[in-house]
Amino acid sequence: MTAIDTTVINYTSNEINEFGDLTLKGVDWSVAAACRTVTNASDLFFSDEFADIRSAKLICAECPVMAQCLEEAFDRGEPCGVWGGQLFEDGKILTVKRRRGRPPKNPRPEDQLPMIPIPEHLVELVA
Ligand code: SF4
Repeated sequence: MTAIDTTVINYTSNEINEFGDLTLKGVDWSVAAACRTVTNASDLFFSDEFADIRSAKLICAECPVMAQCLEEAFDRGEPCGVWGGQLFEDGKILTVKRRRGRPPKNPRPEDQLPMIPIPEHLVELVA
């Protein structure tokens, strides 16, 4: 698993919009992405391993631009990967990921992925 550095830039309250999202007028929001500080982020965010997906989602949960990232990922119809705290497959958000093969009789705790809430103003968009 990749080491995680969750260091993010501190922002003042006047840079937060009415939805609680970070706004960077005239600046590419991705400069504030928490995943920019993660070594080998693509290995983590595009992994099939549950532990990696879990780590990626938890990084997103602390990311100041999660809403912007999620909205754009949905607009692009991302085919795979973790974006904006959600796991994408074929442009849709996967709420449950299953391992290949027959499902176990008893769910494995290690297969549970964290549920990262979708920002309220995007719920209709991704439903
Ligand atoms: S929300 Fe988007 S920008 Fe932020 S850490 Fe997750 S993938 Fe990166």
